[in-house]
This record gives sequence, C-alpha cells and structure tokens, in this order.
Amino acid sequence: MSGRIVKVSGPLVVAENMADASMADVVLVGENKLKGEILNMTGDSASIQVYEETSGLAPGAEVVTTGAPLSVELGPGLLENIYDGIQRPLTEIRALAGETIARGIDVPALDRKKVWEFKATAAAGTRVTGGDIIGTVQETTALLHKVMVPHGIEGELTEIADGSYTVTQTIAKVKTDSGETKEITLMQKWPVRKNRPYKQKTLPCVPLCSGQRVIDTMFPIAKGGTAAVPGPFGSGKTVVQHALAKWSDVDVVVYIGCGERGNEMTDVLMEFPELQDPRTGESLMKRTVLIANTSDMPVAAREASIYTGITIAEYYRDMGYDVAIIADSTSRWAEALREMSGRLEEMPGEEGYPAYLSSRLAQFYERAGCVICQSGEEREGTLTAIGAVSPPGGDTSEPVSQATLRIVKVFWGLDASLAHARHFPAINWMNSYSLYIDNLRPWYEKNYGKSFLENREKTAAMLQKESELQEIVKLVGQDSLSAEDRLTLETSKMIREDFLQQNAFVDIDNYSEYVRQARMLAMILNYDTLCRKAIADGAELERLIKIEAKEKIARAKTVPANKYLEVYDQIEKDMAEQINQIAAGGEQD
Ligand code: ADP
Repeated sequence: MSGRIVKVSGPLVVAENMADASMADVVLVGENKLKGEILNMTGDSASIQVYEETSGLAPGAEVVTTGAPLSVELGPGLLENIYDGIQRPLTEIRALAGETIARGIDVPALDRKKVWEFKATAAAGTRVTGGDIIGTVQETTALLHKVMVPHGIEGELTEIADGSYTVTQTIAKVKTDSGETKEITLMQKWPVRKNRPYKQKTLPCVPLCSGQRVIDTMFPIAKGGTAAVPGPFGSGKTVVQHALAKWSDVDVVVYIGCGERGNEMTDVLMEFPELQDPRTGESLMKRTVLIANTSDMPVAAREASIYTGITIAEYYRDMGYDVAIIADSTSRWAEALREMSGRLEEMPGEEGYPAYLSSRLAQFYERAGCVICQSGEEREGTLTAIGAVSPPGGDTSEPVSQATLRIVKVFWGLDASLAHARHFPAINWMNSYSLYIDNLRPWYEKNYGKSFLENREKTAAMLQKESELQEIVKLVGQDSLSAEDRLTLETSKMIREDFLQQNAFVDIDNYSEYVRQARMLAMILNYDTLCRKAIADGAELERLIKIEAKEKIARAKTVPANKYLEVYDQIEKDMAEQINQIAAGGEQD
C-alpha cells in the first residue's frame, strides 16, 4: 500500500492514505524518490518536509514510507568528508551528477568500497555491551577511530579478527543472552533527532584553548560548554568561527555551514582543505567533518543539518574524544524552521517563529556536555557547541538571539563599531561574558597559578573604569582628570590594542598559548602598577608614557614563539629601570 500526494507547497508535501507510516518516518516522494520526513500525521494524512527541490511534483504521485526515522551512518570515513544536511557526500555527488545536486540521487554517506585496517582490541570470549570499544581503525593520520559495539547489543563476543574490511563487512559477532547472533560492522546507524546515550554528565572543568586572547583569558569556554557568537554582518563571525575550528585543542571539529549565501560556503569548502593543523602540520580536514548547506539548497535539508552534525559529533565524543561543533549560523536554521512552520499553518509566535523555537534550540545545545560515556568501561568525552547568530541589523533583541542567550553560558558579542574601528576580534568586552569561570578556576590555578584569573579580574575592572572615565572626558575633557585616571586610560588602551586585538591573518599573532597570554597581560598590568607608584612619588605621567619599554610592549605580540620568553623578561627589566629612573627624578629627556 502506498500513499498519494494531495498537496505540494514548496518543501511541504501532504499525502493521504499513509496509515502504514508513522510520525518522523523517512518517506520517498514521487517517481524520483525524493527523500522527505513526516512532520505530523492526522488520520491517514501525513505532512512531509521534503529535503529536495519539489518542483514537478503533482497531486497523485506516489509516497512510500521507509519505516525508519532520519538516520546517519557512523563509522570510519566521516572525517575529511563534506556532506549536505542529510549526509549525502557532496564530492561524490558532484562527480556523479555535476555541480548541482541531481534530485533523488542516492549515494551512501560512507564509501562502501574503501577498505580499512581493523585492529581488534577485545578478545573473543569477553562479555561486551553497547558502547564498548572492541577495536580501532586509523581513520586519518590525526585520528584513531575507536570501533564501538552499537547501543542495544549486549552479550558474548564470539568472533573477532584483525584484518582489512569495508564498512559493511562483519568484523565481529556477538551472541546475545537470548541466543541470537549479532554481526558487527565498522558502520552503525543512528537516528539524528535522538540524543546518543551517555552514563552521566559531569561539570565541565577544563577550558578549551583557542589561542585567541580575548576568548581564553577574558571569556573562556569550557570543553563540553556552550557558546554563542552573535554579530551583525561584517563584524567577524566567520573569522572567529574559523579561528576556533582551526586552533581549538580538540580532537574532532564538526563545522556546519548552515544556509549562508552560496559563495560564502564555497569559501569554507575551498579554504578548509588548505588550512594546516598547527599540531600535526597536516591538512585540517584530517580532523574535520564539514556539513554544507547553502541558501540555494532546500530549507528542509538546512533544518536537518544541525541534527546530522551533532549526531556525528556525539559519535566521536562517545569514543572518548574532545569534539567541537560549530554552527554558522543558527539564525539561518531558525529561518528554515519558521518557513516550515508557516507552511504547516501552525500558530506563529514572536516574529513568525514557531512557539517551539526555544525548545528546539535548547535541544540542540543540550546535546553538548562533558560526559562519562555509555560503555562497560570508564571513558570520558566532551562535546562543545558554538553557534553563530546573525540577527538582522545586528539587533540582539530578536527571538533567535534572545532564545540562544537563555541557553548558552558564554556570549561573545561582536560589535559593528569595533569592527568598523578595525578592532579585531570585535568581541565587545563590556557585554560579553563567560559563566564558566568558577568551574574553571581550579584548573587555571593548578596550571598557571592564582595570578591568571586575578589579572583577568584586574583587566575587567580597568576596562570598566575606562568606560566610566570616557563618559567624563566626553563632558569635561581629558585635562580635568587626575594623573591616576589618565594612567587608567593609558593602560586600558594598552590592554585593548596590545592584548585584546589579535590579527587572524598574521602568522605569529593568530595563536597565543596560555603562558604567552598570561605574560603579555602581566607585563601591561605591571607597567600600570609601577607607573602608579611612580606617580605617587611625584613622577610626571607624560614622561612615563613615553618610555621605550612601552613601545616594546606594543610590539610584544609580533615576537616569534621561540623567543618571546626571553624578550618579555628583558622588556620587564628595562621597563622597571626606565620607570624607576623617572621616579628618582632622573634627567629630563
Ligand atoms: P561576518 O561573518 O560577521 O559577516 P567576517 O568574519 O567575514 O564577518 O569578517 C569581516 C572582515 O573583518 C574580514 O574579512 C576581515 O577583513 C575582518 N576581520 C574579522 N576578524 C578579524 C581578525 N581577527 N583579524 C583581522 N581581520 C579580521
């Protein structure tokens, strides 16, 4: 028995006579067998969102259910791949069908012919349960893929052997308690809208090192945490996201380009394979999965891409890895949601978005976290979720920004005026925040001493004071300020220009390790302390701000990584001498 189309409206198709289908089933629509998913059912009539262009479909055409929910294939071969929103490999499709994706084309997500070298780590005779690692495959030079028993299978491992296998060949057999024999392959499937299970969530307590000073020192995100990067067009969202994808100290990055303009996504597709992983020196793609959805692809696929991405990310988390998922941008995804909701004639909420917008966003970010994996053995993995939000006109009072802000714990607010003034990354230090500081405090203190966060607090207070002073200066001019206050303005300027600004396109400056960040900031704050003391002893501020060491601090970020420690030591020494000389009433210059 098969259903028949009664209505087609853009990506929405309504079919009748669908009694044998259930909610969330994947269906094949029309003679091209276009893939779609059932959104809701009334009687035997189903509303279906179709993941492909629906032009040419007409009432009367056949609709058949596959009886299974939208799922992704998980196994070796995901890394280095570029998928669309429903996990079709774009490169293979292009090879088959040319530039535009031909409709109804069905190419498996994981290459069926590729042979992998499997090394067993579990022995026959052992008892295994879902999530247990039974072997490994070197997926890329950057990542050892852990082969896990699929969830739901438990019993005695009866057969397992090293060897060369494709993703569909049997690598092991498990005899369940009911006497059934289950065959295990390198590939398993998982429905995208269902969270992959874990034993327990734990508190995120290790920061994700991004090498970006304003992020790591001022507004850090924990591994397993959630962050949003809202910002108007041109404020540097893409550059920040790329920097995170490139430099974050995680094992796997899943990057979802979600409905940006076509050529913008092309940039990502062209640029990412060229980028080098700073840790291994190899292509960054060796640890990356790209999911690409341009605005000219159907909206429904865009809606699915977020789930496809996070399911793949969870799968690597379950192996015990640190994974980051970067979604650019969740606003485009929400627009897809809005379009489908409109076509379904649902009651609209704020600005036409469906009432379930915030719960859908929450469901996405909730899949992030620091977890003890579901497995017979002890293993931890983390999944960090970072979403860009592109509010129209940069106004963050709109529903997507507001709903996101209620969920995420880190907010890096990009600012058009900072970007305009060429202050990059244009993260506004006055309204950005991180709620992970208390969780991360023990880690920072253990690894970098108490001073790391103390200096952070001093810096935040200094910048706060600067903004207050600027208000006064606007009203009555700089001359009315005391020498101490003018010093505050001077130090804040150094913090902004010499520390917070970081050029993503300059090789030495695009990445700063923790020690370097800490040393740079300490140098600036030391300058402030010494000058304040000198002023109290009667020294003139005008002379203090002209010392040579201050110029050197301004250039500190361009010192090559292999010699910054000695150079910084020297600057600190010279600085103390030069300030002391002025304080001691040394010669006028
Ligand atoms: P958005 O994605 O928000 O529209 P982009 O990320 O494309 O904005 O950034 C716009 C421009 O700003 C970039 O082309 C680049 O010239 C500049 N820019 C952004 N961030 C940085 C940075 N960290 N360093 C240097 N230039 C930057």
